[in-house]
Amino acid sequence: MTKTIAVLPGDGIGPEIMAEAVKVLDTLRTSFGLPVHLEEALVGGAAIDATGQPLPADTLALAKRADAVLLAAVGGPKWESLDISIRPEKGLLGLRSELGLFANLRPATVYPELIDASTLKPEVVEGLDILIVRELTGDIYFGHPRGVRTLENGERMGINSMVYSETEIKRIAHVAFQAASQRQQRLCSVDKANVLETTELWREVVTKVSKDYPKVTLNHMYVDNAAMQLVRYPKQFDVMVTTNLFGDILSDLASMLTGSIGMLPSASLDAQNKGMYEPIHGSAPDIAGQNVANPLATILSVAMMLRYTLQRSDLATLVEEAVHQVLRDGLRTKDIQGKGNYTVVGTREMGDAVVKVLREKR
Ligand code: NAD
Repeated sequence: MTKTIAVLPGDGIGPEIMAEAVKVLDTLRTSFGLPVHLEEALVGGAAIDATGQPLPADTLALAKRADAVLLAAVGGPKWESLDISIRPEKGLLGLRSELGLFANLRPATVYPELIDASTLKPEVVEGLDILIVRELTGDIYFGHPRGVRTLENGERMGINSMVYSETEIKRIAHVAFQAASQRQQRLCSVDKANVLETTELWREVVTKVSKDYPKVTLNHMYVDNAAMQLVRYPKQFDVMVTTNLFGDILSDLASMLTGSIGMLPSASLDAQNKGMYEPIHGSAPDIAGQNVANPLATILSVAMMLRYTLQRSDLATLVEEAVHQVLRDGLRTKDIQGKGNYTVVGTREMGDAVVKVLREKR
Protein backbone atom coordinates (compact mmCIF):
# COMPACT_ATOMS: atom_id res chain seq x y z
CA MET A 1 0.00 0.00 0.00
CA THR A 2 1.28 3.47 -0.88
CA LYS A 3 2.45 5.44 2.16
CA THR A 4 1.98 9.19 2.40
CA ILE A 5 4.91 11.26 3.56
CA ALA A 6 4.36 14.83 4.71
CA VAL A 7 7.27 16.93 3.50
CA LEU A 8 7.83 20.09 5.56
CA PRO A 9 10.84 22.12 4.33
CA GLY A 10 10.41 25.01 6.82
CA ASP A 11 12.87 27.91 6.85
CA GLY A 12 16.47 28.97 6.20
CA ILE A 13 18.42 26.11 4.63
CA GLY A 14 15.30 23.92 5.08
CA PRO A 15 14.07 24.08 1.46
CA GLU A 16 17.59 23.47 0.08
CA ILE A 17 18.34 20.37 2.17
CA MET A 18 14.80 19.04 1.79
CA ALA A 19 15.12 19.20 -2.02
CA GLU A 20 18.04 16.75 -1.76
CA ALA A 21 16.17 14.39 0.59
CA VAL A 22 13.23 14.45 -1.82
CA LYS A 23 15.59 13.50 -4.67
CA VAL A 24 16.62 10.46 -2.62
CA LEU A 25 13.00 9.49 -1.92
CA ASP A 26 12.13 9.94 -5.59
CA THR A 27 15.03 7.67 -6.54
CA LEU A 28 13.84 5.02 -4.09
CA ARG A 29 10.35 5.32 -5.56
CA THR A 30 11.32 5.16 -9.23
CA SER A 31 14.37 2.87 -9.12
CA PHE A 32 13.57 0.63 -6.15
CA GLY A 33 9.76 0.54 -6.27
CA LEU A 34 9.25 2.13 -2.83
CA PRO A 35 5.50 2.88 -2.71
CA VAL A 36 5.46 6.42 -1.36
CA HIS A 37 3.53 9.56 -2.16
CA LEU A 38 4.97 12.92 -1.04
CA GLU A 39 2.85 15.91 -0.03
CA GLU A 40 4.47 19.23 0.86
CA ALA A 41 3.17 21.80 3.37
CA LEU A 42 4.24 24.94 5.18
CA VAL A 43 5.56 25.05 8.74
CA GLY A 44 7.46 27.55 10.89
CA GLY A 45 8.35 31.01 9.62
CA ALA A 46 7.30 30.22 6.05
CA ALA A 47 3.84 29.32 7.39
CA ILE A 48 3.68 32.48 9.53
CA ASP A 49 4.41 34.59 6.45
CA ALA A 50 1.70 32.85 4.43
CA THR A 51 -1.01 32.30 7.06
CA GLY A 52 -0.06 34.06 10.31
CA GLN A 53 0.36 30.69 12.10
CA PRO A 54 3.47 28.49 12.52
CA LEU A 55 1.37 25.32 12.27
CA PRO A 56 -1.59 25.96 9.94
CA ALA A 57 -4.60 23.62 10.21
CA ASP A 58 -3.88 22.18 6.72
CA THR A 59 -0.34 21.24 7.72
CA LEU A 60 -1.47 19.60 10.95
CA ALA A 61 -4.20 17.69 9.10
CA LEU A 62 -1.63 16.44 6.56
CA ALA A 63 0.81 15.45 9.33
CA LYS A 64 -1.95 13.49 11.10
CA ARG A 65 -3.11 11.79 7.91
CA ALA A 66 0.41 10.96 6.70
CA ASP A 67 2.28 7.77 7.62
CA ALA A 68 5.42 9.77 8.38
CA VAL A 69 6.60 13.37 8.50
CA LEU A 70 9.93 14.59 7.11
CA LEU A 71 10.86 18.01 8.45
CA ALA A 72 13.97 20.06 7.63
CA ALA A 73 14.22 22.98 10.09
CA VAL A 74 12.34 26.05 11.27
CA GLY A 75 13.17 29.50 12.60
CA GLY A 76 15.31 32.50 11.84
CA PRO A 77 15.98 36.12 12.83
CA LYS A 78 13.03 37.37 10.77
CA TRP A 79 10.56 35.89 13.28
CA GLU A 80 12.49 36.31 16.53
CA SER A 81 10.64 39.46 17.63
CA LEU A 82 7.21 37.81 17.35
CA ASP A 83 5.25 36.83 20.44
CA ILE A 84 6.47 33.47 21.76
CA SER A 85 3.05 31.89 21.09
CA ILE A 86 3.40 32.29 17.31
CA ARG A 87 7.15 31.79 16.81
CA PRO A 88 8.29 29.21 14.21
CA GLU A 89 9.44 26.77 16.95
CA LYS A 90 5.82 26.54 18.14
CA GLY A 91 5.09 24.74 14.86
CA LEU A 92 7.58 22.06 15.80
CA LEU A 93 6.37 21.67 19.39
CA GLY A 94 2.76 21.62 18.15
CA LEU A 95 3.56 18.77 15.75
CA ARG A 96 5.32 16.77 18.48
CA SER A 97 2.48 17.07 20.95
CA GLU A 98 -0.41 16.74 18.44
CA LEU A 99 1.13 13.59 16.99
CA GLY A 100 1.89 12.11 20.43
CA LEU A 101 5.57 11.62 19.60
CA PHE A 102 6.92 10.37 22.93
CA ALA A 103 10.12 8.62 21.83
CA ASN A 104 13.04 10.60 20.48
CA LEU A 105 15.79 8.55 18.83
CA ARG A 106 19.12 10.23 18.20
CA PRO A 107 22.05 8.29 16.81
CA ALA A 108 25.55 9.61 17.36
CA THR A 109 27.70 7.93 14.76
CA VAL A 110 31.29 8.77 13.91
CA TYR A 111 32.08 8.15 10.26
CA PRO A 112 35.65 6.90 9.79
CA GLU A 113 36.05 9.47 7.03
CA LEU A 114 35.13 12.34 9.41
CA ILE A 115 37.04 11.27 12.49
CA ASP A 116 39.07 14.48 12.54
CA ALA A 117 35.89 16.54 12.99
CA SER A 118 35.54 15.42 16.63
CA THR A 119 37.14 17.44 19.39
CA LEU A 120 37.99 14.14 21.14
CA LYS A 121 41.04 12.01 20.33
CA PRO A 122 40.49 9.72 17.31
CA GLU A 123 41.09 6.57 19.40
CA VAL A 124 38.25 7.61 21.78
CA VAL A 125 35.61 8.13 19.10
CA GLU A 126 36.72 5.84 16.28
CA GLY A 127 33.86 3.44 15.47
CA LEU A 128 31.46 5.25 17.81
CA ASP A 129 27.83 4.24 17.21
CA ILE A 130 25.42 5.18 20.01
CA LEU A 131 21.65 5.51 19.93
CA ILE A 132 20.08 7.72 22.57
CA VAL A 133 16.39 7.11 23.26
CA ARG A 134 14.91 10.11 25.05
CA GLU A 135 11.40 10.25 26.50
CA LEU A 136 9.85 13.33 24.91
CA THR A 137 6.44 14.14 26.39
CA GLY A 138 6.80 13.77 30.17
CA ASP A 139 9.11 14.84 33.00
CA ILE A 140 9.83 18.27 34.41
CA TYR A 141 8.94 20.05 31.14
CA PHE A 142 5.29 19.10 31.51
CA GLY A 143 4.81 18.14 35.21
CA HIS A 144 2.57 20.02 37.65
CA PRO A 145 2.70 21.96 39.91
CA ARG A 146 4.80 24.48 38.00
CA GLY A 147 5.27 28.21 37.86
CA VAL A 148 6.63 31.08 39.91
CA ARG A 149 4.79 31.91 43.16
CA THR A 150 5.12 34.79 45.55
CA LEU A 151 5.42 33.71 49.17
CA GLU A 152 3.88 35.54 52.14
CA ASN A 153 7.16 37.32 52.82
CA GLY A 154 7.18 38.65 49.25
CA GLU A 155 9.97 36.37 48.02
CA ARG A 156 9.35 34.56 44.76
CA MET A 157 9.76 30.80 44.37
CA GLY A 158 10.07 28.81 41.13
CA ILE A 159 8.60 25.31 40.93
CA ASN A 160 8.84 22.55 38.31
CA SER A 161 7.89 18.93 38.94
CA MET A 162 9.52 15.77 37.63
CA VAL A 163 6.58 13.45 36.95
CA TYR A 164 6.47 10.00 35.33
CA SER A 165 3.72 7.38 35.41
CA GLU A 166 4.51 3.66 35.13
CA THR A 167 2.76 3.60 31.73
CA GLU A 168 4.98 6.37 30.37
CA ILE A 169 8.14 4.62 31.58
CA LYS A 170 7.00 1.25 30.26
CA ARG A 171 6.31 2.47 26.72
CA ILE A 172 9.65 4.26 26.31
CA ALA A 173 11.45 1.25 27.80
CA HIS A 174 9.86 -1.02 25.16
CA VAL A 175 11.04 1.32 22.36
CA ALA A 176 14.58 1.24 23.76
CA PHE A 177 14.67 -2.55 24.24
CA GLN A 178 13.33 -3.07 20.71
CA ALA A 179 15.99 -0.74 19.29
CA ALA A 180 18.72 -2.55 21.28
CA SER A 181 17.39 -5.89 19.99
CA GLN A 182 18.16 -4.73 16.44
CA ARG A 183 21.65 -3.53 17.36
CA GLN A 184 24.30 -4.88 19.75
CA GLN A 185 21.76 -6.02 22.37
CA ARG A 186 23.01 -3.67 25.08
CA LEU A 187 20.89 -1.08 26.87
CA CYS A 188 22.02 1.44 29.48
CA SER A 189 19.18 3.12 31.42
CA VAL A 190 20.19 6.50 32.81
CA ASP A 191 18.57 7.90 35.98
CA LYS A 192 19.29 9.56 39.29
CA ALA A 193 17.67 6.85 41.40
CA ASN A 194 19.93 7.59 44.38
CA VAL A 195 18.17 10.92 45.05
CA LEU A 196 15.02 11.21 42.90
CA GLU A 197 12.02 8.99 43.71
CA THR A 198 10.63 9.49 40.19
CA THR A 199 13.69 7.87 38.71
CA GLU A 200 13.72 5.18 41.39
CA LEU A 201 10.37 4.18 39.88
CA TRP A 202 11.95 4.58 36.41
CA ARG A 203 14.67 2.06 37.34
CA GLU A 204 12.16 -0.40 38.80
CA VAL A 205 9.88 -0.30 35.74
CA VAL A 206 12.75 -0.53 33.20
CA THR A 207 14.07 -3.57 35.10
CA LYS A 208 10.62 -5.17 34.97
CA VAL A 209 10.31 -4.54 31.18
CA SER A 210 13.76 -6.14 30.67
CA LYS A 211 12.22 -9.55 31.47
CA ASP A 212 10.49 -9.36 28.04
CA TYR A 213 13.88 -8.98 26.32
CA PRO A 214 16.12 -11.74 27.71
CA LYS A 215 18.72 -11.30 24.94
CA VAL A 216 19.33 -7.63 25.77
CA THR A 217 21.83 -6.89 28.56
CA LEU A 218 20.55 -4.06 30.74
CA ASN A 219 22.64 -1.88 33.03
CA HIS A 220 21.75 1.25 35.00
CA MET A 221 23.85 4.38 35.36
CA TYR A 222 23.41 7.65 37.28
CA VAL A 223 23.17 10.62 34.95
CA ASP A 224 26.24 12.41 36.33
CA ASN A 225 28.35 9.31 35.72
CA ALA A 226 26.77 8.84 32.26
CA ALA A 227 27.88 12.36 31.28
CA MET A 228 31.43 11.55 32.40
CA GLN A 229 31.48 8.16 30.68
CA LEU A 230 30.24 9.65 27.39
CA VAL A 231 33.36 11.78 27.24
CA ARG A 232 35.78 9.29 28.87
CA TYR A 233 34.92 6.08 27.00
CA PRO A 234 31.82 6.57 24.81
CA LYS A 235 32.28 3.30 22.92
CA GLN A 236 31.04 1.35 25.98
CA PHE A 237 27.47 2.37 24.98
CA ASP A 238 25.13 0.82 22.43
CA VAL A 239 21.62 2.14 23.25
CA MET A 240 20.94 4.55 26.11
CA VAL A 241 17.42 5.29 27.40
CA THR A 242 16.59 8.19 29.66
CA THR A 243 14.11 10.81 30.79
CA ASN A 244 13.20 13.97 28.90
CA LEU A 245 15.45 16.32 30.90
CA PHE A 246 18.49 14.04 31.10
CA GLY A 247 18.03 13.05 27.45
CA ASP A 248 17.91 16.67 26.35
CA ILE A 249 21.37 17.25 27.77
CA LEU A 250 23.00 13.87 27.07
CA SER A 251 21.84 13.70 23.43
CA ASP A 252 23.42 17.09 22.69
CA LEU A 253 26.60 15.99 24.42
CA ALA A 254 26.68 12.73 22.45
CA SER A 255 26.04 14.44 19.13
CA MET A 256 28.99 16.72 19.68
CA LEU A 257 31.29 13.70 20.11
CA THR A 258 30.88 13.27 16.37
CA GLY A 259 31.80 16.89 15.65
CA SER A 260 29.58 17.29 12.60
CA ILE A 261 26.14 18.76 13.19
CA GLY A 262 25.29 18.52 9.49
CA MET A 263 25.49 14.71 9.60
CA LEU A 264 23.09 13.76 12.40
CA PRO A 265 19.49 12.65 11.88
CA SER A 266 16.74 12.04 14.45
CA ALA A 267 13.37 10.35 14.77
CA SER A 268 10.45 11.04 17.08
CA LEU A 269 7.99 8.14 17.25
CA ASP A 270 4.48 7.52 18.53
CA ALA A 271 3.10 4.26 19.94
CA GLN A 272 2.51 2.84 16.42
CA ASN A 273 5.99 3.77 15.14
CA LYS A 274 4.59 6.62 13.10
CA GLY A 275 7.32 9.20 13.19
CA MET A 276 8.58 12.65 12.49
CA TYR A 277 12.09 12.61 11.05
CA GLU A 278 14.42 15.60 11.06
CA PRO A 279 18.07 16.58 11.15
CA ILE A 280 19.21 17.67 14.64
CA HIS A 281 20.51 21.01 13.39
CA GLY A 282 18.51 24.20 12.94
CA SER A 283 17.71 26.37 9.93
CA ALA A 284 21.24 27.86 9.73
CA PRO A 285 20.11 31.29 8.50
CA ASP A 286 23.77 32.34 8.22
CA ILE A 287 24.28 30.09 5.20
CA ALA A 288 20.74 29.93 3.73
CA GLY A 289 20.35 30.31 -0.02
CA GLN A 290 24.05 29.78 -0.78
CA ASN A 291 24.04 26.10 -1.81
CA VAL A 292 26.60 25.29 0.90
CA ALA A 293 24.43 23.53 3.55
CA ASN A 294 25.10 19.86 4.21
CA PRO A 295 22.04 17.82 3.17
CA LEU A 296 23.32 14.51 4.62
CA ALA A 297 21.58 14.77 8.04
CA THR A 298 18.25 15.14 6.23
CA ILE A 299 19.09 12.30 3.84
CA LEU A 300 20.04 10.13 6.85
CA SER A 301 16.69 11.11 8.42
CA VAL A 302 15.10 9.49 5.36
CA ALA A 303 17.09 6.35 6.21
CA MET A 304 15.67 6.40 9.75
CA MET A 305 12.17 6.78 8.31
CA LEU A 306 12.76 3.74 6.11
CA ARG A 307 13.93 1.72 9.10
CA TYR A 308 11.43 2.70 11.80
CA THR A 309 8.18 3.66 10.05
CA LEU A 310 8.32 2.15 6.58
CA GLN A 311 9.90 -1.09 7.87
CA ARG A 312 12.41 -1.14 5.01
CA SER A 313 15.72 -1.58 6.78
CA ASP A 314 17.13 -2.96 3.49
CA LEU A 315 16.64 0.43 1.84
CA ALA A 316 17.70 2.27 5.01
CA THR A 317 21.04 0.45 4.91
CA LEU A 318 21.33 1.23 1.20
CA VAL A 319 20.93 4.98 1.82
CA GLU A 320 23.41 4.89 4.72
CA GLU A 321 25.91 3.02 2.55
CA ALA A 322 25.45 5.56 -0.25
CA VAL A 323 26.30 8.36 2.22
CA HIS A 324 29.41 6.44 3.33
CA GLN A 325 30.38 5.94 -0.30
CA VAL A 326 30.26 9.65 -1.22
CA LEU A 327 32.40 10.42 1.83
CA ARG A 328 34.84 7.67 0.87
CA ASP A 329 34.93 9.18 -2.62
CA GLY A 330 36.27 12.34 -0.98
CA LEU A 331 33.24 14.60 -1.41
CA ARG A 332 32.65 17.12 1.39
CA THR A 333 30.37 20.04 2.01
CA LYS A 334 32.10 23.03 3.55
CA ASP A 335 31.12 22.19 7.17
CA ILE A 336 32.89 18.80 7.07
CA GLN A 337 35.77 19.85 4.85
CA GLY A 338 38.46 19.27 7.52
CA LYS A 339 42.12 19.50 6.60
CA GLY A 340 42.38 16.72 4.03
CA ASN A 341 42.59 16.91 0.29
CA TYR A 342 38.86 16.70 -0.46
CA THR A 343 36.51 17.87 -3.17
CA VAL A 344 34.27 20.53 -1.66
CA VAL A 345 30.81 20.42 -3.19
CA GLY A 346 27.55 22.30 -2.72
CA THR A 347 24.21 21.10 -1.33
CA ARG A 348 22.81 20.07 -4.72
CA GLU A 349 25.99 18.34 -5.84
CA MET A 350 26.13 16.32 -2.60
CA GLY A 351 22.50 15.22 -3.08
CA ASP A 352 23.21 14.31 -6.71
CA ALA A 353 26.23 12.24 -5.64
CA VAL A 354 24.15 10.21 -3.16
CA VAL A 355 21.48 9.64 -5.82
CA LYS A 356 24.12 8.52 -8.34
CA VAL A 357 25.53 5.93 -5.91
CA LEU A 358 22.00 4.71 -5.13
CA ARG A 359 21.22 4.25 -8.83
CA GLU A 360 24.44 2.26 -9.27
CA LYS A 361 23.36 -0.05 -6.44
CA ARG A 362 20.06 -0.93 -8.14
P1 NAD B 1 21.78 25.90 13.70
O1 NAD B 1 21.85 24.45 13.93
O2 NAD B 1 20.81 26.40 12.69
O3 NAD B 1 23.24 26.46 13.27
C1 NAD B 1 24.39 26.32 14.10
C2 NAD B 1 25.65 26.40 13.21
O4 NAD B 1 25.76 25.18 12.45
C3 NAD B 1 25.61 27.52 12.17
O5 NAD B 1 26.89 28.02 11.99
C4 NAD B 1 25.16 26.84 10.89
O6 NAD B 1 25.62 27.47 9.72
C5 NAD B 1 25.75 25.45 11.05
N1 NAD B 1 24.91 24.42 10.42
C6 NAD B 1 23.72 23.94 10.88
N2 NAD B 1 23.22 23.05 10.03
C7 NAD B 1 24.11 22.95 9.01
C8 NAD B 1 24.15 22.18 7.81
N3 NAD B 1 23.18 21.32 7.48
N4 NAD B 1 25.20 22.36 6.99
C9 NAD B 1 26.20 23.19 7.29
N5 NAD B 1 26.22 23.95 8.41
C10 NAD B 1 25.19 23.83 9.26
O7 NAD B 1 21.51 26.58 15.13
P2 NAD B 1 21.26 28.11 15.51
O8 NAD B 1 22.13 28.99 14.69
O9 NAD B 1 21.35 28.14 16.99
O10 NAD B 1 19.75 28.38 15.13
C11 NAD B 1 19.31 28.97 13.90
C12 NAD B 1 17.78 28.92 13.86
O11 NAD B 1 17.37 27.55 13.83
C13 NAD B 1 17.11 29.55 15.09
O12 NAD B 1 15.98 30.24 14.66
C14 NAD B 1 16.73 28.36 15.94
O13 NAD B 1 15.62 28.61 16.76
C15 NAD B 1 16.40 27.33 14.87
N6 NAD B 1 16.52 25.93 15.29
C16 NAD B 1 15.61 25.07 14.77
C17 NAD B 1 15.70 23.73 15.06
C18 NAD B 1 14.72 22.80 14.39
O14 NAD B 1 14.04 23.19 13.48
N7 NAD B 1 14.67 21.56 14.82
C19 NAD B 1 16.72 23.25 15.89
C20 NAD B 1 17.65 24.16 16.39
C21 NAD B 1 17.54 25.50 16.07
